[in-house]
Amino acid sequence: MNNQRVAIITGGSRGIGAATAKLFAQNGYAVCVNYKSNAESAKALAEEIKALGGHCISIQADVSKEDDVLRLFECVDRELGVVSVLVNNAGVLKKQMRLEEMSADRINSILETNVTGYFLCCREAVKRMSTRHGGLGGVIINVSSGAARTGSPNEYIDYAASKGAIDTLTKGLSLEVAAEGIRVNCVRPGLIYTDMHADGGEPERIERLKSKIPMQRGGLSDEVAEAIYWLASEKSSFSTGSFLDVAGGL
Ligand code: NAP
Repeated sequence: MNNQRVAIITGGSRGIGAATAKLFAQNGYAVCVNYKSNAESAKALAEEIKALGGHCISIQADVSKEDDVLRLFECVDRELGVVSVLVNNAGVLKKQMRLEEMSADRINSILETNVTGYFLCCREAVKRMSTRHGGLGGVIINVSSGAARTGSPNEYIDYAASKGAIDTLTKGLSLEVAAEGIRVNCVRPGLIYTDMHADGGEPERIERLKSKIPMQRGGLSDEVAEAIYWLASEKSSFSTGSFLDVAGGL
């Protein structure tokens, strides 16, 4: 075990999480790439990072399951050391539909990953980081969404509401642990080119909507990763409970 800083990126196998994992590794962090089912992408990313001289492990864990989250953090304790940065990024949405078509199963599955998963990972991070528990402090970045403010009508209000909950989680937890060495901040991406839009049934969604973005284009995962990295770094040492929109003005 050495003194290398340790970052856990949930949902790190693809999209915004993968870009974030690479950026942290390039900046000297030992990185844990968490994923749910896409072992191939997660392992390929870990190999890519290692080939560039970085330190990276990949761990399968469904963040909506408490036992999986416990195993994820214990595995990181053992293999990398105590976590100093948690990027809560694993998120899902489902097929676009109006609210009156939504089943309880669908709504619950969104909330379990996007809300309960974030809470559980925050809990395990705080137990390890808080000076109250003998920890050395740390930083938590929650990846929310511009959807928290727009509400995503006719697409996925359930997803948007889950992100509203993350904004509230960020505010409450940031104040709860502000005097315990932990900063908690939030990045709210706008329309970013990843696989996620295909899960909603519209892979080309950004092309349909991009004329409504003031900057007239979708964003890149790397652009979100840079915002996450800044909020995790000492350059933002007096920022907590803050929200950084990465949305081209939307
Ligand atoms: P993505 O490309 O669809 O990737 C989702 C990631 O989350 C994958 O690594 C996936 O793992 C993982 N994941 C899903 N459910 C999980 C679970 N239960 N446990 C652990 N990992 C799980 O998504 P993205 O677009 O990069 O989105 C990342 C975050 O940004 C999400 O929170 C999303 O809500 C937010 N966001 C995205 C956009 C956008 O336009 N893309 C906009 C605003 C906010 P597998 O690879 O194993 O499936």
